[in-house]
Amino acid sequence: MSPRPDPPQVDRVAAGKAAVAARQARAAVKAAVASRSRTALDAAETGWSDAHSAEAGMRIRELLTSIPGLGPTRVARALAELGISDKKRVGGLGSRQRVALRDYLLRREGVVPARLVVLAGPTAVGKGAVSGYIRENYPDVHFSVSATTRPARPGEEHGVHYYFVSDDEFDRMIAADELLEWAIVHNSYRYGTPRPPIDAALAAGRSVLLEIDLQGARSVREVMPEARLIFLLPPTWDELVRRLIGRGTETPAEQQRRLETARVELAAQDEFDYKVVNNEIAQAAQEVVNLMAVSAP
Ligand code: 5GP
Repeated sequence: MSPRPDPPQVDRVAAGKAAVAARQARAAVKAAVASRSRTALDAAETGWSDAHSAEAGMRIRELLTSIPGLGPTRVARALAELGISDKKRVGGLGSRQRVALRDYLLRREGVVPARLVVLAGPTAVGKGAVSGYIRENYPDVHFSVSATTRPARPGEEHGVHYYFVSDDEFDRMIAADELLEWAIVHNSYRYGTPRPPIDAALAAGRSVLLEIDLQGARSVREVMPEARLIFLLPPTWDELVRRLIGRGTETPAEQQRRLETARVELAAQDEFDYKVVNNEIAQAAQEVVNLMAVSAP
């Protein structure tokens, strides 16, 4: 590589001035964080939304050491835990690192991060009952309402239990990228998670609960690695069969098909972050809600 010619004198002066101004701007951010007039998270988020800001150009190490009470040793440990190298700047973080740093800073501020929690489990384990209990008793949790092409069962309401939509409308939602994930469940109807309400709830700091099938849980893990996956287990296999037959809303052929799906689904439990046994609905619901507030799997 040939050496670059020296910039003309005026450019060097201008560049020098710009560098001084950038350093001063970064020093002002650090001073604001150190005096608690601004949070480190606010500074990081400014850096993420504006790649040319002083915040984007700050090293994570600089940002963290300006937080009152965080010395160099703890900062070095935090960076190692977060998987962020010592040289990284705010604007240069990948999406997983941003999520990890945001969670870390929120925890330092004593805030429980908003979470996307997926509740999955075998057919008839009682996911609907547990999530229904959460919906009624924990109004702070945003409950995702899925779209489905299945017809409504007696007592089910459009917009409450599901959005009951036509095949054409489901096609439209897929084409418009309005679904976070979707799947064909039990080889029959399509079910999908509308994305806009979830984005809005998370942005407003609420936890979000999705009650979806295993394929859906896997898709969510792909597109949102920070999601927490909970698997609801029956107390025993016999109890699961009893619950499946006991519901009585499906034909024997449909029941057989669901039993087969349940057997396959149970085998996937180890892919999940947590398991909750559904012995008693209120107890299981409480455990799920508690897990929403735990800071790390
Ligand atoms: P049901 O027809 O009994 O209400 O639900 C059948 C299955 O579809 C359940 O296992 C439920 O978890 C799953 N399901 C409901 N909504 C969604 C969704 O939006 N996406 C996916 N992948 N599965 C869903």
